[in-house]
Order: sequence, then C-alpha cells, then structure tokens
Amino acid sequence: MSAPPKEEPKSSNFLRAIIERDLEAGTYAQRHFAGTPGDAAHQAAGPLDAARIRTRFPPEPNGYLHIGHAKSICLNFGLARDFGGICHMRFDDTNPEKEEQEYVDAILESVRWLGFSWEAGGVNHLYYASNYFDFMARAAEALIEAGLAYVDEQSADAMRESRGDFNTAGTDSPFRNRTPAENLARFQDMKDGKLADGAAVLRARIDMTSPNINLRDPALYRIKRATHHNTGDRWCIYPMYTYAHPIEDALEGITHSICTLEFEDQRPFYDWLLDMLCTLGLLAQPRPHQYEFARLNVTHVITSKRRLKQLVDEGIVDGWDDPRMPTIVGLRRRGYTPESLQLFAERTGVSKAGGWIGYSSLDIALRDDLDPKAARAMAVLDPVRLVLTNWDEVMGAGTIDACSAPVHPAQPERGRRTFGIAREIWIARDDFLPAPTKGYFRLFPGNRVRLKYGHVIECTGCTLDANGEVVEVQALLVPDTKSGTPGADAVKVKGVITWVGVHDGAAAEVRLYERLFIDEQPDAGGRDFLAGLTPHSKRVANAYVEPSLAAAQKEDRFQLERLGYFVADRIDHGNGRLVFNRTTTLKDSFAR
Ligand code: ATP
Ligand code: MG
Repeated sequence: MSAPPKEEPKSSNFLRAIIERDLEAGTYAQRHFAGTPGDAAHQAAGPLDAARIRTRFPPEPNGYLHIGHAKSICLNFGLARDFGGICHMRFDDTNPEKEEQEYVDAILESVRWLGFSWEAGGVNHLYYASNYFDFMARAAEALIEAGLAYVDEQSADAMRESRGDFNTAGTDSPFRNRTPAENLARFQDMKDGKLADGAAVLRARIDMTSPNINLRDPALYRIKRATHHNTGDRWCIYPMYTYAHPIEDALEGITHSICTLEFEDQRPFYDWLLDMLCTLGLLAQPRPHQYEFARLNVTHVITSKRRLKQLVDEGIVDGWDDPRMPTIVGLRRRGYTPESLQLFAERTGVSKAGGWIGYSSLDIALRDDLDPKAARAMAVLDPVRLVLTNWDEVMGAGTIDACSAPVHPAQPERGRRTFGIAREIWIARDDFLPAPTKGYFRLFPGNRVRLKYGHVIECTGCTLDANGEVVEVQALLVPDTKSGTPGADAVKVKGVITWVGVHDGAAAEVRLYERLFIDEQPDAGGRDFLAGLTPHSKRVANAYVEPSLAAAQKEDRFQLERLGYFVADRIDHGNGRLVFNRTTTLKDSFAR
C-alpha cells in the first residue's frame, strides 16, 4: 500500500535536554501516582508511577483549536510518547463565562484526529480543572491559616494603584495584616455568597515590593456569580488562572509543565505556590516544573481565538471549519493530513526566541507527506469542449479508445487507472489561446500538443460566442501517436495537456483558496487585522474529473496532475456532484 510517512530524526531541543537530564538524575523516579489526580495523601497511597514523565495539553474550552495548539499538542503528546511518559488531556475550565460543551467536543475530536490519545494502560487521562475546585478552596484555606493569603476588600482601583509598576514598589493593602482567623471567616463569606461580585479578592501574601510584579500579592480567587458548564451554580468564587494551573499540574502528577513564553514571568509564582502547598503537606513531591517555549506564529495567519471567532461571527468565513481557517477543523477540511501537521510541528522546532514561520513550510510538509501517498488523477478546471473533427475517419464513429495511467508513478504495484478518449474531450480553458503569446506551447491554431496518456493532436480553430468567448476548440487527431505504442514519439511536441473525456468525465465543483490575509503579520502592532483581508480568497470552479475520482469518499486525497493536492469534501454521488478543495498547489506559488 502507500509508503509510510517520512520518518525524520527527532531534532534535539532544550525541552528534550531537560527531560533527559531529569531522567538521568532520577528526579522523578520516586514519584507515586495513585492512578487518578489527587492530593499528597492520595498519591502517597499509590504505587511508584510507571510513567517516566507526565505532560499535559491544557486548553481552555472557549473556542476551536488552531495551528498553534497543534504545535503544543504534538509537543506535549510527542514528548510523552518519546520518553515513555503519559500526556494528560486536561480542560482548563476555571473561567465560567466563555466555556461551552461544543468546544469541549470539538477539541477532543481535533486531538484524536491529530493522532494522539490520552488513554494509557486502560486509564483514561481526560481531566477537567473544574473537578479540582474543592481542593483549590481547601488549599486556599491552608494558605490563609499559614498567613500566606488574605482577603483584600480594597476597590479594584485602589488595588491597581497600590500594586506599583516597573519603577515603583507596591504598597501594602490596609487589609494585609488581618489575622488568619479573620481571613478564614471572610473567605467563608466570599464562598457563601455574602459579598457582591468584585467586592473582595483572596490574595497571596508574598511581597509588595518584589521586582516581579506577579509576586506582589497576586489574586487567587475572585467573586463571580456565573453558571459553570460543569459545576453549575455551586460556586460563586472562581480561582484565577495563575493559581489554578500549578495546582492542576501538581494534582495530576505532571512532571514537565510546558507553556508559551508569556507565562515566563509567572514561573516564580508557580514555584512559590507549589513549594508552599508541598511544605504544608497538601501536594505530593517531587512537584512539577514549568518550562516555556516561544509560541508558533505562522505568516498570513492569525491564531488568536478571539479574532478567529470574530471571522466566524461576522460571516467573513463560512464557519470554524472553513478551509481558509487556521483551526484544526479548517486545516482538516482544507486537506492537511495529521501527519503533515506533525511533520510541520517537528520541523518548526522548539525555541526560546519567538519568530514567524513561513506559511509555505506547512505546504512543504503537506507535499512531503502526500507525494508518496496520494493517488494521481486528471481533472480539468474551467472546462471547454474540444472536438477531434477527424475522429470518425481515423478511429471509427463511436469508438472509445482506452487509455491508462499509473495510480502512482513511483509505485507500479498500486496499479493503473483507466479512462477513455473519444471524439469530444474537456480541456482547461487556459490550455487554449486563439492567438498565442510568446512562449505559449499549448493549444493554438496550427500547434500540436500531446494529450497526456493519449494522442498528439493538432489544433485547427475554435468557435466563439456572441461575446467573443471560446465555446469550442477544434483539432485533428494525429494518427499513430498514442502514448505507449511503437513510434508514438516520432512526432515531437513542446506541450502536454491534461484532459478528461466528455463521455466518462464526472462533473465536480472545485474550490480554490488564497491565503485569508495579505499581510505577513495580519494583527501585528495592534493593527486592524480585518483591513488586510484578501479580496477573493475563495473561488469556486466548475470541473470535470476522470472516472477514477467518481467513487471518491469524503477526505480522500489526490494529486490532480498539474493542479496540486486536493481533498474530497462534500460528496453527493446521488446527483453526481463531487466537491474538491485544493489544499495546495504542486509548487510554492507564494515564494517570496
Ligand atoms: P489563544 O490566545 O488563541 O486563545 P490560548 O493560549 O489562550 O490561545 P489555550 O486554550 O489556553 O489557548 O491553550 C492551550 C495550550 O496551547 C496552552 O498550553 C498554550 O500555551 C498552547 N498554545 C496556544 N497557542 C499557541 C501557539 N501559537 N503556539 C504554541 N502553543 C500554543
Ligand atoms: Mg488562554
């Protein structure tokens, strides 16, 4: 069958180096894991963890995943796979407002489609941060009792002001020196709904003069009356992301918590919080550590969920899975394969320095993946009828001459596809010119070309309609020139064109896409990204395809000769209408 996907040597990177170092030093060798997430006591009762490392992919279910997430998925699941570990699938659903079940389902489906699984040894490592709300509140109370957290009832403005800035140290809140007993009572009031939304926050008690503003008594809990998709109305306080995330990691026995660079300044708080909760005996040791890498930016692509949502909501695209969208569901409909996205993620590497990856890298990965796999076929876009006017004399009236071509030119074992040539065929409108331009070797009156896998023909003229549009091209078949027959090459031609028989071609709709954004960095510098939209980024063309494509199933992928890689999208065998999306051209037409 098809050749295996290209295996590339795994390039080393700083994350691999860190994991190798930890494995060598046995940093996590004595770690217990009870089989499910839990606190120190829960884990201690379990056996030594058979997983050598644990990583996690922790999306917030507030939108569809995009190409940047694909990178994070490949990285986290890939590291776990390569080092004998396990990667958890975790929904970071601590924010009640923007999260929906629709997104949860779509995210799971995308991760699965990309080729990864969160099941290991019969255990399903699918977790929801909202299931840890009880522990998070208990941990908050432990911090309060230890004098490490307090309820601040300053106004939001006063709190902001007293935080200081890069040049000015912060100042202590008047509520900072409340006793643990007072704070416990007040936190209970927060939990019990006795305080209005925003009336108080629970803050860590660290250092208002720290040069790292994130350590100036960061908020741990806020009051917010909102219905949560998992916990309903049970809570009116919700943990802040920076408080919740380290705890989620620790409860799950994560060893290497990998995130993007914008969280680098949060790492000291991550460490502080987990050290305190470990010291208080609430969380198991050795605890997780956070490592940051530069997020993936792809030219001509936006990856902010908020902006992608705007494209959908304003009807600029036809939905989250529009083939122009950089969402995983969009890339899938466009025809990108899981393997090509994995290859792309691997090749773009992991670094500490941000940068932009050219969109063409994605197409190169797609071509590298599909070239050995995709069956070949012929199709004609924007077709015009060509009549071989001497067919009946040379071949006999009504004759259909059988032609064939390899399914894959480098893999003869995959067999041959067959189709017929007859008096009338479809050719692409742009393979004919009534008057040739310089360097044009295809059809024009007086010129000869070869019909690929067929005969040499000589153009004799065309018929125009009232608007001067070509409605038919006429040509003569040159006898004894059929490909593969003796002497076929005696007649030399400069051009070879693809074609489809009128009698056996299947009608199809082909969708051709341009990049959605003209600019390389569509939303850089706070620019209005909608101002730089490509005017006509989707073109729908009529086409005829060779008979081998008539049985195409949804998501079958092909290389259409001369045209590029295509995926079958909507299949409507009933009315004979096939729809193909062009994934990419055969060569990089966007080279800069
Ligand atoms: P967005 O800003 O688009 O909403 P996000 O980072 O808020 O994305 P999350 O759902 O929180 O989205 O992300 C889940 C994981 O995916 C995080 O670990 C995050 O670091 C990672 N991730 C998101 N975008 C990228 C990217 N462009 N490159 C690499 N990793 C990314
Ligand atoms: Mg986020």
